[in-house]
This record gives sequence, structure tokens and C-alpha cells, in this order.
Amino acid sequence: MARWRPSPFLQASALVHAGAAAGLLANPAWWPAALGALVANHAALTVAGLLPRSHLLGPNLTHLPTEAARRGEVVISIDDGPDPEVTPRVLEQLAAAGARATFFCIGRRAAAHPGLVRDILAAGHTIENHSEHHWKRFSTLGPGAMAREIATAQETLGQLSGRRPRYFRAPAGLRNPFLDPILSRLDLHLASWTRRAYDTRAGDPQRVLSRLCTGLGGGDILLLHDGNAARTPDGRPVILEVLPTLLARIRDAGLSTTPLP
Ligand SMILES: [Zn+2]
Repeated sequence: MARWRPSPFLQASALVHAGAAAGLLANPAWWPAALGALVANHAALTVAGLLPRSHLLGPNLTHLPTEAARRGEVVISIDDGPDPEVTPRVLEQLAAAGARATFFCIGRRAAAHPGLVRDILAAGHTIENHSEHHWKRFSTLGPGAMAREIATAQETLGQLSGRRPRYFRAPAGLRNPFLDPILSRLDLHLASWTRRAYDTRAGDPQRVLSRLCTGLGGGDILLLHDGNAARTPDGRPVILEVLPTLLARIRDAGLSTTPLP
């Protein structure tokens, strides 16, 4: 288990707190300045947690390392499943293109569909941790509840797949400062993305595709959803309309797909 080291931003935040406390002890009349510093610091911490690709709260994989980028590798990450309707068809589309992906599964859903977990692994894809329940309020949890959400999924997914996940992705990418030490304790790395499709809300395949393909290059981590997928106007899960074209564009650009390393 790696020893947790707070990011420079968290260290600076701790200094602001210590400074405010020291200032109040030295002269209680300085309370407006101390309070102002604390409010500003908490606002900055909150904003950092609301930016999924921010590195301020700790390490965060938003792009593959240089070597993988040079080799032209791209990660397709697929969140919020497994889903009994969508995941099997996603697997068919990936297989047809000879592509491999990383599935950030919700512990509860994986436990409800163990056969899909086996199918994902048998096709050569990997499964990573996307929390046990995928609560919308995940980023407001305290350290105990947040740790349980992640550790329970780690157990669930580890047992179902026979391999403990190495990466964690926060629900909607939203975090708070409690997350980084928990991940360090569980030997997990935070992974977000280079570009996301907003495909839980956007049902227009062309818009979803252009969000993913604009600037497409080696080292990109792309985010799509097999669970909670938005529907096209004629009711099809949007990922199924987008994935074959996306895989063709990746191939035509001379790039290849890989699960998260
Ligand atoms: Zn999600």
C-alpha cells in the first residue's frame, strides 16, 4: 500500500487553516480576515472537486502516458453498466472491430448481472471500480461513507471478476478532498478522461461522435456509457449508434484501442 501524500493544493489548504487558527489566537479581532481566508479556501476546494479533470485534489489520469500516446493507443472507457440490454450489444460491436475497452462498472449492477461480468472479461476487456451504488451525492459523502462506497465495490467486483480493480472513477467525476487518501489506502488510481460524450443526456449521435472525435489522438481516454445511456429520437441507446463509427475513425486515424494499462 502506497503512503498517502497530500497534493500541493491540499497542503496549501492545510496551511491556510493553520494560519487562520494562529491569527485568531494572536488577535481575536482578526476574525473577519481568518473567516474570509477559510471561506475562500473551501470555495476553491469545492470548485476543484467539481472539475472532473482537475489534478488539484490528487493524481488523476486524464491522458495515457507519453509512450502509449506515441504508440497511438486510445482507451475507450464505458461507464455505469453492466446493462442487460446494452452491454451485450456493445460487446458485439467491440468484437466486430477487434477493439478492447475498459468498463467502469457499478458494484450493485455487476452483482445483479454476473454473467455480463464474465462476458466482458472473456472478450479481453477490463473491469474497474465506479463505486457500489453510483450515488448522485457521492461527492458530498464524509470519509467513512465514501470509503465504504468504494471498498464495497472493490470487494464486489474483485470477487466477481477474480481481479481487484486498479482504477476508480467517481460518479459524474465529482469528488471532495476525502477521496485521495481513501484511494491510496485501497491501492486504487483515480482515472477520469480526455474527452466525454455526455451520452447519458445527449441522444444525438452526431453530436456525441463529434465531441469524442474532435482532436482525437494517441493517448486519449474517451468516456461513453452502456448504463444510463441516452436514447436517440427513435429510442435506440446512443452508444450503439456511435460506437461502430467511432471505432472506424480510430482505425482510420492509425490508432488502436487498449484497456487502461
Ligand atoms: Zn457514472
